[in-house]
Amino acid sequence: MAIDDSSSSSSYLAPWSDRLRHSAIILLVAGLALSVFVATGELGVARAIAAFICIAAAALVPWRLHDAATSREDVRGVNPVEAAAVSAVVAGMPDPAVLLDRAGRVLHLNAAAAQLAPALRKNELAQFALRSPEIITALREAIATTEPRRATYLDHVPVDRWMELIITPVPVPTLFGGTDKCMLMTFHDQTPLRRVEEMRADFVANASHELRTPLAALSGFIDTLQGPAKDDVKARERFLGIMHAQATRMARLIDDLLSLSRVELSAHVRPDTSVDIVPIIRQVADGLEPLAHERQVAIDIDLPELPVTIAGDREELLRLFENLIENALKYGASGGKVIVSLVQAASADGTPEVRVLVRDFGPGIAPEHLPRLTERFYRVDVGDSRAQGGTGLGLSLVKHIVNRHRGRLLIESVPKNGATFTACFPQAKPPAGA
Ligand code: ADP
Repeated sequence: MAIDDSSSSSSYLAPWSDRLRHSAIILLVAGLALSVFVATGELGVARAIAAFICIAAAALVPWRLHDAATSREDVRGVNPVEAAAVSAVVAGMPDPAVLLDRAGRVLHLNAAAAQLAPALRKNELAQFALRSPEIITALREAIATTEPRRATYLDHVPVDRWMELIITPVPVPTLFGGTDKCMLMTFHDQTPLRRVEEMRADFVANASHELRTPLAALSGFIDTLQGPAKDDVKARERFLGIMHAQATRMARLIDDLLSLSRVELSAHVRPDTSVDIVPIIRQVADGLEPLAHERQVAIDIDLPELPVTIAGDREELLRLFENLIENALKYGASGGKVIVSLVQAASADGTPEVRVLVRDFGPGIAPEHLPRLTERFYRVDVGDSRAQGGTGLGLSLVKHIVNRHRGRLLIESVPKNGATFTACFPQAKPPAGA
């Protein structure tokens, strides 16, 4: 296959005009020499003509023989301009792309393909470089059927990547108006889709598991109350209390799941209502006073007297601060104090922002847990979280709400010395003329 600028096609393509010129010069010189010999009487006309015919044959026949020998290659030869264009198209493709001949030999490959599969080399068989039986079968089938074929290419270095490989047969025009079949092999990165799919499956599995646990407890207690404990008034009271707690847990979980999906649905729409954040925080803190009292924790509020406005969704902000302050009261209760404060500062790029800090003095969080705290259903201690009525969705919801407000969530903790959760929001621009 000579789509490339290989020696077989270039040796044939270049010399058409050169060979014509060389033959003409030889014949001209021979003709002149023979004329001189005839004019000087050293050669007869008949002999001179015979000698000219021999010279002409000597000049032209090897050329014809050469053409006959290379004609099979020539049929498959490709116009060099077209070959260069094909190479440029492959090089310019955004995804990794490789053009193969009908045997699977690499004719062109772009930089992305070379980076993805360094074993792929020009003029070498792709089958040796991509030693996957699935790819080899797909390639063989694409060549045999002239229909596109798909296969999966797994890359493990430097990180796991799933690539979909599409092999598309493409007819390439040859020099003399025919076509030759090549294979265009393109790689499409499916890793993000795969990850989302895995996350979705994990989420469904986790949510079902979280719902099934209280449901199993409920149906167990119903059976007990209908059977062995039917007439046991004391046991009935106790079991009904547990059933109530389990039902509340299920309701809370469903509530959190719905809130999360609502925030996710509107994640791309930034809230645009101006809200004063100070009374929102105060309302949440007041509402959590009974819990603070129960856990013997003092809530220390340090908020400005003047309004502080951000572009926000009031309901979501209530939910956000409720989660942060409630977590501080639940998990940091041993510290006896929770401080809720608000500061106005500039972010790293100079944007003025409003920061709400919720600080507790409890056991804190070990550093290895910090990056995963906002994952759905992630808990440092599952038993502790369940005992506190947690769903494992609170901080995930907080992160989504902060993101929708185009803000940032910072989590800092010193084990044994409490944790600080900081929600940062871009400050609302003052009204024009203010
Ligand atoms: P949960 O419903 O379990 O409270 P969250 O998403 O709100 O779920 O929190 C995830 C986990 O983070 C909690 O289970 C807890 O282990 C840990 N956590 C959250 N806030 C604090 C805190 N202030 N101090 C210590 N650990 C915390």
